[in-house]
Amino acid sequence: MSRPQVGFSMHPRWIAGSTLAGFLGPLRTAGLEALEFGLDANDADWPHFEPMMYDCRLLGLDLCFHAPYKPPYTIAGFAGHERASIEGDYAAMLDVAGRFGDTTVVIHGAQSATRPQQELVADTVAFLRWALDRYPSLTLALENLVFDPDKVKIGADRTDVLRIVEEINDSRVGICWDLGHDVMNGCHDLPNQAWLQHICHAHLHDVSEHGVDHYPFNYGRVPIRSWLPALARAGFSGIASLELKGGQLASLELEQIMEMLVDSTSKAHRLLTTST
Ligand SMILES: [Zn+2]
Repeated sequence: MSRPQVGFSMHPRWIAGSTLAGFLGPLRTAGLEALEFGLDANDADWPHFEPMMYDCRLLGLDLCFHAPYKPPYTIAGFAGHERASIEGDYAAMLDVAGRFGDTTVVIHGAQSATRPQQELVADTVAFLRWALDRYPSLTLALENLVFDPDKVKIGADRTDVLRIVEEINDSRVGICWDLGHDVMNGCHDLPNQAWLQHICHAHLHDVSEHGVDHYPFNYGRVPIRSWLPALARAGFSGIASLELKGGQLASLELEQIMEMLVDSTSKAHRLLTTST
């Protein structure tokens, strides 16, 4: 892959009122080329995920993945004696991604309300090194996260993400730039060149007037018009996935939802492909 692709964070519930091809058709016309699948055996729809991955690939879409991050999944403690049980939990999920060959998996750094920052950095680095070693076909994308006053989260600060990626210094470890999370953190400046150069994946969504993220680009709060062309100019050649929460749009008609998804897809596609 030598150019950016627009992706969409897929879930079996998106096709509740349609068929897979019926749902994806208008989005593909708007520029969609890839789908991102969350990996979480505790999702009530988990049994439908893997068959859907194969169906999407048969339709000609590229796939990428998001490692588990919702409790009880945690990588906090990985550098200590909890490693064996965490490895077991995560291997069961990452093995799924591993079956799809060269692909990217998004990782959230370790977080905890009780453990110190330094330990959580060590947990994150040890986890990434383990996954690199176990999955030679996977590229790992460490994501920037929303700050939480009650927790230490590795990734709530852009600097942590870059430092860890530079420390590991492997072409298969990069940054997942979540543009919406930056805005949630009050960060509206373009990341520096070192940060931009390490981005191998991106998450796209808008922030509502109530300060809630993971919406389509309806609000203009995330500066995609300057950020996406800058990302493309930095040589980005990964997948930029629209990461939306369907539940937040549940009050809308299906037709209205599709209009928004098509609009966000074509905006992302245009901004990533007209970089000059
Ligand atoms: Zn994200």
